[in-house]
Amino acid sequence: MSELIFARKDGDRVALPAGTVAGLSSRLRGAFVTAADSDYEPLRKVWNSLIDRRPACIVQAAGIGDVQAVVSFAAERDLLLAVRGGGHSAAGYGVPEQGIMLDLSRMRSVRVDEKQRCAWVEGGATWRDLDAATEPFGLAAVGGMVGSTGVAGVTLGGGFGWLTRLHGLACDNLVSAELVTANGERLNASEEENPELLWGLKGGGGNFGIVTRLQLRLHSVPPRLFAGMLAYPTEEAEAALALLRDVMAEAPDSLSAVGAFSSMAEGQPVVLICSAYFGAAARGEELLAPLRKAKAPLFDSMAPISYGQLQSLFDLGGQRRQRCYWRSSFLESVPNAAIATIVAQERARPSPQSAIVLEFLRGAYERTAPGAAAFQHRGALCNLLVTAQWEAAEDDFANRDWALKTVAALAPHATGGVYLNYQGSEDADRETLVPQVYSPETYARLVALKQRYDPTNLFRMNLNISPG
Ligand code: FAD
Repeated sequence: MSELIFARKDGDRVALPAGTVAGLSSRLRGAFVTAADSDYEPLRKVWNSLIDRRPACIVQAAGIGDVQAVVSFAAERDLLLAVRGGGHSAAGYGVPEQGIMLDLSRMRSVRVDEKQRCAWVEGGATWRDLDAATEPFGLAAVGGMVGSTGVAGVTLGGGFGWLTRLHGLACDNLVSAELVTANGERLNASEEENPELLWGLKGGGGNFGIVTRLQLRLHSVPPRLFAGMLAYPTEEAEAALALLRDVMAEAPDSLSAVGAFSSMAEGQPVVLICSAYFGAAARGEELLAPLRKAKAPLFDSMAPISYGQLQSLFDLGGQRRQRCYWRSSFLESVPNAAIATIVAQERARPSPQSAIVLEFLRGAYERTAPGAAAFQHRGALCNLLVTAQWEAAEDDFANRDWALKTVAALAPHATGGVYLNYQGSEDADRETLVPQVYSPETYARLVALKQRYDPTNLFRMNLNISPG
């Protein structure tokens, strides 16, 4: 082991002697990886290939003891620290330039308590890990439509999924959490212990500590759902989206739907309507009949499938690394004028891999009491997600510009709020984003929690709540 140069939180660099670095690595059960190791390159890569940062070291934690060792080591020396769960943050929060990357991907165990209807999930588990563990019991947790995204990363920011209209967000179903705070201590947050911290974890992101274990409420899912995709040519986009909006206005909570402009594998632009009915196929067919009969889809894969199959519907797109820039906005309504704007922006997209997505909300999501979680925006009809995704560096400007212009064009229909997990933010954006994510009252409560649990802002690679 040789001397290593680390970035400090304030941006300065510090050289730590070989003995100091060895002191950390010898305390770990997991792996300590530097640029000299062959697995450094694959480990530093995350889903957004625009993020090309080189951490001073990567610790692959094997358990809470390793997490405590890393947090204490970084805190004592004011080093830059980032935590990587599933590695899907579009903003690249999981990788620090020249800092310590705490990789939780070896901490993925899941234990299901069938009687209590909950799952105990380690901090680095993905939705695929969790779904595989709950499916044999006929149970499921809310959230994460793509198997490779991290349970903790998704849940701490909110967590939209197929079950949101029935059971709220992933964070609404967070019963308790175990975390390591900035002083290296292990803490529990639940309704009984540190309830204010539990509230803050439901939407406050990774600001208060490294979550090593989550307890999530589980729900019964039928063995077969009526779910799949309908694809229409883009000439039919306006009519198809208007029909979807009208179907969802009358739909029971058990019908969930997402409308998306996307491309088929061979590049043909299409509008996709992906939906899931958590009930008998015949009733699902009836509810979706206006969509399936009024317009002839290019393809129609609606069929009785298992929840596991539904959860893998988008997996292919979720695994492929690409240059990406995401923007989002909650919409209060989707009148025909908004649909026309979406269609016009879709036609202007510079990359066929980019998409405009509308996630339909309401149901249990809307009924959750506004103060129950740090996450807000319960009144929105839809979550609009603009995913600019492309291949070549020379197209960076055009694609970012398109994402920004798309969200701006839909501003007349927006609530003014945004979902923090769908932001491809850069530091310069923070001042604009924070008031769009949190109301002043919620932000003040989060600052008080930050001052209590992370007064020196060790956990800053996130949509940062400044301790002031
Ligand atoms: P990472 O990059 O590993 O982590 C991001 C940040 O989350 C970390 O830097 C840290 O600040 C925090 N974090 C992660 N784990 C921990 C932990 N154990 N303790 C403390 N902080 C932690 N969102 C939805 O709501 N629903 C979806 O269906 C959905 N689908 C998506 C599909 C794709 C392909 C992508 C790219 C994103 C999707 N998202 C979705 C957005 C997703 O919620 C965020 O990208 C989220 O940050 C991913 O978490 P991660 O652990 O995979 O990311």
